[in-house]
Amino acid sequence: MAGTIDHVTGEQMYKLAERLFPICRSITGEGVRQTLQILQEDIPLEIREIPTGTPVFDWTIPREWNVKDAWVKDPSGQKIIDFKKNNLHLLNYSIPYRGKMALAQLKDHLYYMPEKPDLIPYRTSYYTEKWGFCLAYDQFKTLPEGAYEVLIDSSLSDGHLTYGELHIPGDLEEEFLLTTHICHPSLANDNLSGIVVLQALAKYLLSIKNRYSYRILFIPGTIGSITWLALNEGKISRIKGGLVASLLGDRAQFHFKRSRIGDSDLDRLVEYVLTNSEYPYTVMDFIPYGYDERQFCSPGINLPMGNLTRSTFGYPEYHTSADNLQFISANELEKSYLIYRAVVRHWEMNRKFVNLIPKGEPQLGKRGLYEAIGGKSDSHTIQMAILWVLNLSDGHHSMLDIAIRSGISMAQLHQVSELLISKSLLSEI
Ligand code: ZN
Repeated sequence: MAGTIDHVTGEQMYKLAERLFPICRSITGEGVRQTLQILQEDIPLEIREIPTGTPVFDWTIPREWNVKDAWVKDPSGQKIIDFKKNNLHLLNYSIPYRGKMALAQLKDHLYYMPEKPDLIPYRTSYYTEKWGFCLAYDQFKTLPEGAYEVLIDSSLSDGHLTYGELHIPGDLEEEFLLTTHICHPSLANDNLSGIVVLQALAKYLLSIKNRYSYRILFIPGTIGSITWLALNEGKISRIKGGLVASLLGDRAQFHFKRSRIGDSDLDRLVEYVLTNSEYPYTVMDFIPYGYDERQFCSPGINLPMGNLTRSTFGYPEYHTSADNLQFISANELEKSYLIYRAVVRHWEMNRKFVNLIPKGEPQLGKRGLYEAIGGKSDSHTIQMAILWVLNLSDGHHSMLDIAIRSGISMAQLHQVSELLISKSLLSEI
């Protein structure tokens, strides 16, 4: 699989991650718009704006958050915490604030991790109004007594929740859904890796003809998927499978978290692709914790959607300043992209057929099928593939079922099915 060049390379994905890294994103605001506009340079993404106050299922679109500047000055007037140096320093969604206070008061608004003393934590307060700063515990310990000056030049006002949507029509109205969250500030694996892998996959899907339609969502976590589902309920039944993309740039092995359904075509297909890849992997059952699969697999939605990652939730660098551009690499992004591309390729091949001459075996010789496969080095496998496809194409078995049962690859079965269609022996259902 490696080495092909009919796609966006790992280097290109990494460069895009570098460009997006400094932007201060959140669940709303200019950082999200700016991110989506950069993605729009390469793919025809629709940018949707949903007004503050719009009800979406049990939730309401929040006020829009934007920030110009934020800092803390120590008693000597020196800026010791500076949002402009690292946007993780500001509690994401901090309300505006300006004031002077003693260290003891300031401490109520400081977040740090004694267990990871040299790292800045990433913290948010989307639905509780407060302000705060995040810093390394090593720095926290050195803060002298005295009067501190604090500025948070942010705004929290009526505006919009912004997300990106790309619909790529195929021959079928039925859809495969790919989503990633876009709400994290300067963090690389969670979540820039998901953004750049789906951007690359979008370019691939736009460059070829597809049977299925594809929908790709670049959405703020939780509220974004709830918003899309609430505003597009009529489209949900078209979705036959999908993946939530996240944590795709680090070195960990692949982890596939099954959908809530557990044994859907999507679940079995992703497992098949991983089994037949050169990479180690682990498959896990669904739990109602993690990324947006929580929403797509909520009981009233229950889509066959899994979460395909490298690391899983809660890795040591997770939600800290160590989840930076050094933690991800072009090489690992490329591997993740290739697995995602293999999933959609196999999804396209996973058709169901019916044998048009099911009573007794059809006479292959008289239809020129032996000539068609004669002389090929893998002619025995092709012959077995023909026999398996003809035997199991009773309208109930998919190409995936036949591949698993026969041990012959889906790609080979796909080729054979095209041949059998051309000889009027098979018909798709
Ligand atoms: Zn996260």
